[in-house]
Amino acid sequence: MVRTVAVMTSGGDAPGMNAGVRAVVRRALDCGLEVYGIHNGYEGLVSGGDAIRPLGWNDVGGILPRGGTFLGTARSERFRTVEGRRKAVENLCRRGVQALVVIGGDGSLMGARVLAEEWVTHCAELRRQASEDVCARMPDRLHVVGLPGSIDNDLYGTDMSIGADTALNHIVHAIDDLTSTAASHQRTFIVETMGRHCGYLALMGALGGGASWVLVPEEELDLRWHQKMSRAIERARAIGRPHQMVVVAEGARHPDGLPIRTEELKKILAERLGIDVRVTVLGHVQRGGPPSAFDRILATRLGVAAVDLLLSASEEPLCHMLGLQKNRVTATPLSEVVEKSRAVGSHIDQGNYREAQKLRGESFARTLELVKTLTRIEPASSPKGDGCVAILTGGADAPGMNTAVSIAARCLLNEGYAVVGVRDAFRGLIAGDFQELEWNELTSWVNRPGSELGTARHDVNGRDLERMAQNIRERNIRGLIAIGGLGTYLNAARLAAAAESLPELALPMVLVPATIDNNLPCTEFTIGCDTALNNIVQAIDKIRHTAGANRRAFVVEVMGRQSGFLALAGALASGAEKAYLPEKGICLAELNRDVAALQESFRCGKRMVIFLRNENASRHYTTDFIARLLEEESRGLYQVRTAILGHLQRGGAPTAFDRILACRMGSAAAREMSLLLEQGRAEAVALGLRGRGVEAVPFREALEEMDLETGRPRGQWFLELTSVAEILARHAPSCTVE
Ligand code: ADP
Repeated sequence: MVRTVAVMTSGGDAPGMNAGVRAVVRRALDCGLEVYGIHNGYEGLVSGGDAIRPLGWNDVGGILPRGGTFLGTARSERFRTVEGRRKAVENLCRRGVQALVVIGGDGSLMGARVLAEEWVTHCAELRRQASEDVCARMPDRLHVVGLPGSIDNDLYGTDMSIGADTALNHIVHAIDDLTSTAASHQRTFIVETMGRHCGYLALMGALGGGASWVLVPEEELDLRWHQKMSRAIERARAIGRPHQMVVVAEGARHPDGLPIRTEELKKILAERLGIDVRVTVLGHVQRGGPPSAFDRILATRLGVAAVDLLLSASEEPLCHMLGLQKNRVTATPLSEVVEKSRAVGSHIDQGNYREAQKLRGESFARTLELVKTLTRIEPASSPKGDGCVAILTGGADAPGMNTAVSIAARCLLNEGYAVVGVRDAFRGLIAGDFQELEWNELTSWVNRPGSELGTARHDVNGRDLERMAQNIRERNIRGLIAIGGLGTYLNAARLAAAAESLPELALPMVLVPATIDNNLPCTEFTIGCDTALNNIVQAIDKIRHTAGANRRAFVVEVMGRQSGFLALAGALASGAEKAYLPEKGICLAELNRDVAALQESFRCGKRMVIFLRNENASRHYTTDFIARLLEEESRGLYQVRTAILGHLQRGGAPTAFDRILACRMGSAAAREMSLLLEQGRAEAVALGLRGRGVEAVPFREALEEMDLETGRPRGQWFLELTSVAEILARHAPSCTVE
């Protein structure tokens, strides 16, 4: 049974590493383990002494929003030697450490694997020469658990590594900023992203930033790639914008293996096309800053799972990396992780691009295909049949809706379909308020907040249906793509149900889940929920800064309608002490317990406590009620404030995750619509992201998965995170102030 665990961060720093350390430390302490923190990576492990110190509950307080790693990180040459590693083993033995959690990239995980493999040999040697205190506590085996910490997202065995999402957000927002200056001067920008041998950041950055060309190491370039790129930029300028973006991964190479330099790209484009080209190398800003909500949650889930895995360990020493695959925590042997992660580089060197892409995972190849499609498409020269496809954005607006409209419409235009936008959702369909969609205009919608088509909440009724049928006939609408939340789904269901009496309504329909609430069936995430979550987390980070000298409790109200996703994920990512969810409701006994826990927290030295309350967590125990209750019971121990975050949760440019999801769903919506039209099927499908990428589910099936009485899907994956959030945000369990 593991009783003593050490945690360290190593290699390049990555935002979210702190969240990982916090989770390991608190979960381990909660389970009664002794925890050591190793400072400065393997260098600290070799040095020992003060570099390896016990970590307590409060040592990891307040680190969640901080970028980098508070434990420090380093590259250690000493650890690469057998003598160095023997010293490291000695230092671990002296403290009786039986398990090591290493958060880092492939180099760090390789180091961890070597250490685990050599453990027995080093111990045998140390038994001969080391002092008694080392031998007395020497464990028989060392369990090693690696967590993927790298902005590059280049590790096998996980869909995402800790830090990649934050870096990607930096990239898409930098591209947004460059786009506005590029537009003013009609310039083309070449943007270089980090990622060593991995093109993930460049690829996803290009997709989310709406770039016209991308160069990644995993793609085989043909000898005339300069010409292809120049032609694509020229074409994109001709049909749309005079300003363009080219994203290049730092590891991109010529077909002969030599690196592609940004200055060389600049020269090619400037000379061939006679255009004004500028270069921006994003560099270390990609690494910095507070971690995104996703990175905090990812690191927290993996950190907790690492301790749980260690607690279940048997005699056999563990040597695994935990990752997140298809939104589930999975364990992969470190040997496989290291070998397959490194194999990508060798495959690229040998020109086996297909193998390299395969090792990057299904979604990499699919995204590369999508980016290439998006750079290729242009309005078709000949129309496909008569009539048009209508697109609307319904309900409340959600960040990423514009991205989805932009991609869906351009993909359809490329196939020759006429596309029309409907103003203000179903209201526009009732009133016959349509908007022509221009290619050029659509291109610039990729990063726009809100909804350019306009949204409205309106439940359609019998009279509305007749008017819609009339407009559909007059406008010759042959299919409808509806992007929105629950209200949009329900209106679409009414429309489909009325098709028997109003034949015009017998249309192919594609439903695209877009709402900040994340309360729709057949999808684990909806377009917009990641932006809202980040808005919440950033707001709470700011609220925490206001703690000053006072002890304060904040009751923060967040949106989400009948879904607790934003409240729970918000609590997990911000370290809030409590999340009131509509799924669980609020009862008096619970409030009593919360008041007692709050008083104890302040007595134990906390300066700020945050309770998150979903807007519909309870009809009567409102945000105001809870704040008054806490205030009344404060007995001078603390003050209480409320913060209702309201519509700021919806605002701002969509995050990278929302844009990428919207791009995938937008292109899938166009594909499904085209399929339904070609096959003459007046059916409806709903899109969802579950496990194996974006899929279309028959709309009827999707509606059945919805519990209309509660207003949320029957199964909600995120509820399994409830206990994690509760454990990690408590005050130190060792504090027992009366
Ligand atoms: P990252 O973990 O970000 O990939 P590095 O590749 O620099 O970063 O690795 C971090 C550290 O891991 C190195 O400085 C070294 O101490 C250790 N390490 C890497 N590879 C090995 C190896 N083959 N054997 C032992 N230690 C290694």
